[in-house]
Amino acid sequence: MSNGKLEELRGQLDSVNQQLLELLSERGRIAQQIGQEKEKQGVPKYDPVREKEMLDELVAQNKGPFDNETIRHLFKQMFQASLKLQQSDHVKHLLVSRKRHKEDTIVSVGDVAVGGKKPILVAGPCSVESYEQVRKTAAMLKASGVTVLRGGAFKPRTSPYDFQGLGIEGLQILKEVADEFGLKTISEIVDPAHVELAGQYIDVIQIGARNMQNFELLKAAGDVKTPILLKRGLAATIDEFLHSAEYIVSRGNTQVMLIERGIRTYEKATRNTLDISAVPILKLESHLPVLVDVTHSTGRKDIMAPCAKAAIAAGADGVMVEVHPDPATALSDAAQQMNFDEFRKFLEEVGLSV
Ligand code: PEP
Ligand code: MN
Repeated sequence: MSNGKLEELRGQLDSVNQQLLELLSERGRIAQQIGQEKEKQGVPKYDPVREKEMLDELVAQNKGPFDNETIRHLFKQMFQASLKLQQSDHVKHLLVSRKRHKEDTIVSVGDVAVGGKKPILVAGPCSVESYEQVRKTAAMLKASGVTVLRGGAFKPRTSPYDFQGLGIEGLQILKEVADEFGLKTISEIVDPAHVELAGQYIDVIQIGARNMQNFELLKAAGDVKTPILLKRGLAATIDEFLHSAEYIVSRGNTQVMLIERGIRTYEKATRNTLDISAVPILKLESHLPVLVDVTHSTGRKDIMAPCAKAAIAAGADGVMVEVHPDPATALSDAAQQMNFDEFRKFLEEVGLSV
């Protein structure tokens, strides 16, 4: 083939590439409009029956030179790219998305602002066990400058034979102690029927990892004004995590904080794997405050301080830790709770000015 002929054919190919690009872009724009229509109608983006019909039609009309399998493969790639376009448009539409709302959401827990410039520290026992245990912890936290006290009253335990928490009585203890010391409180609620009632006792409702996709609980949390601390599920993707937050925000409760608490991986050196990259990703994707629970993620007191520092360095708006007056006798998570001396050392090492 002469050079002239080759150049001419290449010229034709360039022109076809241009036309294909224009057609592809046109196809993408139409797919986006279809995506918006599906969004309005609440129907799923992926429609395998429609996709099969389109592929069968294309194969029926295929006159070569590409064989049918190649045609199927090429068009399938195009369909997938269009679906991705529709899905990323969908994420932009989420109320929790930063694309929808540029400014950081600041959650007000009384006079404590979460999501502002200063990261907060949430500390307290795994479980509320007694008035004395909570009071001792609160007194120490107050003296250390901590303003938000945590303590579980409803404990979602792996075994039904383990301590299940004091229930409402636990919430009452938290309230009594918090009122005495002027602290704010966080406690987990597991039953949608308790969500409204909880507002009388505590300042923040925690939705635990095991309940991240308890949709009835999320809806109930969306129907109140109490701030919510939503934990990432044991094996939840970031996308699933954000959709769970969307359940709450879409019902009207905009006061939602996200907390990374480690996810399940094959690694056994820590209780869970602290996904530190989730912090900057969540901050980029969403406007909600992001905290890190260094206790349940690592399960190791010897690395909690460096992990808390990493969380703050990655942009976290706060850190959560468990502290107990006598961890050896704790009714849950005995091995991972810090005693008071360990907690004070942790504070000093992390340098959080609480
Ligand atoms: C807790 O914070 O008390 C707790 C049970 O944590 P998680 O839901 O993250 O396991
Ligand atoms: Mn615990």
